[in-house]
Order: sequence, then structure tokens, then C-alpha cells
Amino acid sequence: MRVFKFGGASVKNAEAVKNVSYIINNFSDDKVIVVVSAMGKTTNAMELITEALYHKKYDEFRALVQERKAFHLDIIDGLFEQKNHPIFDEVKNMFNQLGNRVHLPIAENYDFEYDQIVSLGEVVSTKIIQAYIGLSRKDSVWMDARHLVRTNNNYRYADVKFEKTEQLIRRFIADHAEKNIFVTQGFLGHTDESFTTTLGREGSDFTAGIFAYCLDAKDVTIWKDVPGMLNADPKWFDNTVKLDMISFKEAIELSYYGASVIHPKTLKPLQNKGIPLYVKSFVSPENPGTVIQPSTQYDALVPSFIFKMNQVLMSITPKDFSFIAEDNMSDIFKRLAAVGARINVMQNSALSFTVCMDIRPESLPKLVDELSTDYTIKYNNDLELVTIRHYDQATIDRVTTGKEIFMEQKTRQTVRIVMKNL
Ligand code: ASP
Ligand code: MG
Repeated sequence: MRVFKFGGASVKNAEAVKNVSYIINNFSDDKVIVVVSAMGKTTNAMELITEALYHKKYDEFRALVQERKAFHLDIIDGLFEQKNHPIFDEVKNMFNQLGNRVHLPIAENYDFEYDQIVSLGEVVSTKIIQAYIGLSRKDSVWMDARHLVRTNNNYRYADVKFEKTEQLIRRFIADHAEKNIFVTQGFLGHTDESFTTTLGREGSDFTAGIFAYCLDAKDVTIWKDVPGMLNADPKWFDNTVKLDMISFKEAIELSYYGASVIHPKTLKPLQNKGIPLYVKSFVSPENPGTVIQPSTQYDALVPSFIFKMNQVLMSITPKDFSFIAEDNMSDIFKRLAAVGARINVMQNSALSFTVCMDIRPESLPKLVDELSTDYTIKYNNDLELVTIRHYDQATIDRVTTGKEIFMEQKTRQTVRIVMKNL
């Protein structure tokens, strides 16, 4: 058993879907679980649809639903020559039903409603892809992750119950022993009461990890529009190099610091079972890509760079001249968590505590306001945080020329620098 995961960009139009089918037919041996995301930017669109419905902006809601319906109908039009294929009606019905939600009561819990609606992006995407693959492969089947991945009811950020999930998945596969291609949705699950949940944005990689873990898969391949895992995001960096082979340990470090190639939760279940993860290009599937595997012996050859923008660096000093200690640290952490700030780097001295963080611009004044009752606050915003794994002086110079440095923190393998353009 292998697991393939295709993200939104790999199924954004009819051509792309044909390519997915080509890859499945030519690069998977024996049986394969195919985990697919919503098509193109559909999840963003579904989020807007949920917003519009929830706030009773019905005209906007109808227009957005029509637009998504047209988008999907255009894709199936490009895929199916037989214009009376049942998929046309199936897709129309799904969007018509969504449109009819204006007549239904809406749940008070926004996150619940979000999961019921946003999940349809994955459902329609996998229906289309399975129908297309089914034209040539009778041994393929659509598999509903909303009945297989069991979660708690933490809507939008649901946690997976692995034991139950494993039972459900194994039973489904056993009941369909004659099938070889199982097409299912990324990022979806269900509660004990059978309500749909989602696993957090970009969670489809994690779904691939869940299926692989539960089925003791031979390997997982994440098919992407990049040649593999790179040592930096090409958006911020020229001359990137591909990492051919790295360890789970290193990949977990990189994703912790913010490397965005793989959803961070994906790696742990695979590491636990020693299941290798390939990151490969769906544009040139014959190329080897990157393999993430248990051995650490190939690590530490290439320095990796991870950039985070729009950082806020804040120093927090108690007004009563007390030292920074456990009690005021925990008070500070509580207040940061309350406004949804995400700490990336921290440092303390006797009298002040400094954090570099992601925080929504609208939350910043609120935080400063609240902290100011007990602390003196100084901050800078619009900063960059760069993390270099396996750094040396040359790599530090490379990223800091023309920058003013606000903070630098070094450990043996990693340097983190908070800086701003001069
Ligand atoms: N479609 C979902 C998202 O865009 C899940 C995923 O793509 O991984 O967040
Ligand atoms: Mg997506």
C-alpha cells in the first residue's frame, strides 16, 4: 500500500486532473490511497461562503456559490466528453444544496458551521477525480474520510483519535479488497456523533500521514509544484537547493521553525512507524524529489533558511522593578495566548522579557494596552525573522547584509536573527 497526496494546485483545472490520473497510473504499484485537497483556491472561497452565510449576506453568498459551481462545472466539462455523465448532476446538486442553506437554521457555533460547509470543497473535488479515474480504472473507489477519520469535536482544529480511525480505515479497505485505487479527502474527519470536522488549514498532508500510519503503508508521496523540499522558500531566496534526503528529526525541526513544505503534524506518525515520505514534483514525476526517512546520517550538509515576515519584537519590563521570574512570565504568556499571539523566539534578562512573535495587527494595540497596566512595553513591528539551520558566518552574512539586527540567538545547529531593512 502506498499513499499519494495531491494538494489544491495539483487539481486546479482539467489539465491538472488529467496529470494526477497519469501519475496514479504510472507511479503507483499495487494499491494506493489517493488523498486530495479541494481544487485550486476552493477552500478560501468556501471560507468566504461560510462568512457570507453566517452574517446573512445572502446576495454575496449566492454569488459565491454560483461562482464555485461554475468553476467546478468548467473543470468537469474539460474532463468528460460524455456530457450526460452522472458527475455533472452530482456536482450541480451539491452546489444547489449548498445554496439552499439560506432556508435552513444556522448553528450558533461558527466553527461547526465552517466545517460542515468548507468540507464540501474536498468532497466535490474527490467526487470529480474518482469519476474521472473511474473512466479507465474500474478498480478505483471513492472513500469518504468523513466516515473514517474519527476526531474529537474541536471544530476547525479537530484532534484525531487514532485507534478508532485505524479500525474504521482497515475495515473499509478489507471490505473493498478487489479495489486498488482509493480516492479520499484530505483534511476531513468526523466526531463520535458523525458531524464533519476539519483538521486545520493545509491539513491534507496530515491526512496522508494518518492513512499511512493506520495501514502501515510502504511510503507516502506528497506531489507538489516544487521539485522537492528546498533549503529555502524561493519566494524569499535566490539559488535554492533541493535537499535530496533528510531525516524525520531534521524535517520536524525545519517545519517547527516555519518551513512550509509539509504540514508539521504529518511527520510524527510517519516517524513513529518509520514510513518514508517523498516530496516530489507533479510536473516532473520521474525526478526523485526529496525523501524524508529515519536515518540522520545524511543531515547537516546544506544550510537551510526559513523566513518569517511581519514579526513583532516586544520587550516587557515589570513596572514594580521585580525580576523576571516564573510568576510574571506565566502572566505574560497568558496574556499573549489570550490575543492569539504566536511566540517564535524569546529571551529574558533580569528585568525584562523579550519575545518575537506573530500577532494579528488588530490585536497588537489591545495587547500593548493590557500589558501596559503592569509592564513597560517597547516594541518594533514589521521585522523579519530568519532561522538558519547548520549556519556558518558566511550564511549569516548572506542574510544580514543591508539589515539592522535587533536580536540574535545561537545554538549549535541553529541561529535565529530578528532584523529589518536598513
Ligand atoms: N483544502 C484545505 C486547505 O486549503 C486543506 C489542504 O489543502 O491541505 O487548507
Ligand atoms: Mg488546499
